[in-house]
Amino acid sequence: MKKIYLNKMTLSILALIFSIIIGCEEAKESEEVVEIVPKDTVKEEVFPVLGHDAPYYLDSVYYGREEYIEYHPGNIPIILSVPHGGWIIPDEIPDRTYGTMVTDDNTYQMSKVIMDTMEARFGSKPYVILCRLKRRKLDANRDSTEAAQENRFAHRAWQEYHHYIGTAKKKIESEFGSGLFLDIHGHGANPDGYYDLRTWLGYLMPGSVLDQNDETLNTNSNAIKTSIRALVDTSDFSFIEVLRGQHSFGSLLDSLGFGSVPSKKYPGPDGSRFFSGGYNTARHGSRDGGIISAIQIEAPKPGIRQNQQTWSNYASALATVVDEYYFRHLKRRIRN
Ligand SMILES: [Zn+2]
Repeated sequence: MKKIYLNKMTLSILALIFSIIIGCEEAKESEEVVEIVPKDTVKEEVFPVLGHDAPYYLDSVYYGREEYIEYHPGNIPIILSVPHGGWIIPDEIPDRTYGTMVTDDNTYQMSKVIMDTMEARFGSKPYVILCRLKRRKLDANRDSTEAAQENRFAHRAWQEYHHYIGTAKKKIESEFGSGLFLDIHGHGANPDGYYDLRTWLGYLMPGSVLDQNDETLNTNSNAIKTSIRALVDTSDFSFIEVLRGQHSFGSLLDSLGFGSVPSKKYPGPDGSRFFSGGYNTARHGSRDGGIISAIQIEAPKPGIRQNQQTWSNYASALATVVDEYYFRHLKRRIRN
């Protein structure tokens, strides 16, 4: 393989030298010589080093290679990650052959509304990372093997996605003592046709564990397995209160009309289907250390991901909840 490549390379170099020698007078001929260079001798695209587009300025948007990934730098300790709302289906990336392929409808659009709502409310912007590739081309909420399935362009997009998150986390770590990472998703009807219209909050606690009673669940060994480990450490409230007490993320959302699991009202999924948080929640939350805690938000479509009006209502509730949750447990107001 290598030998053939070198021979072809040599040929193309000779062709190039020849074209230079014959000079400008026969430019037309020299162009023809260049055109016969076989395609497979074209050098593979070399990707620039991650971060080549830095520094990242507030109010600028960064898109990565081929605009597959979109990054909005922020200035508050909140990160919104949106891995499954993309639509781009480029020829250079074949469809993935295994894993989940379902798009989380409207999460791209809805998360933009959440971003704008937070900016209007707090006078400052959250960090936002969105995948614009359709999920069957890249799953940005899986490890690189399952995410990109050996396609180098998908893998590059995956690297960029997590690079931008890493950049946001570093900024937050250096400027704030805490942070919150929200991985935004959508869930559909259950296989049996029942559609749970509540938001599922993933803290890396499986549904079967959430279905245990408060006393059994409220232990340090459970707390340190969650993606909000650092937040529980900082909070004056006990683990179970942070998870599903009055000031929990779920109860706050529920109080604004968006039923959520877990919460005071709905402590666990009660045996039904539930998503407890994926790769991003595990990687970018505080279970394995760090000061940034993560929650996976799985929103149903009816009443939330449905249209401009429902996006707006949900965004407004989320901004209120994030502010209150942050204040209760991390002891600072988001708004300046
Ligand atoms: Zn999803």
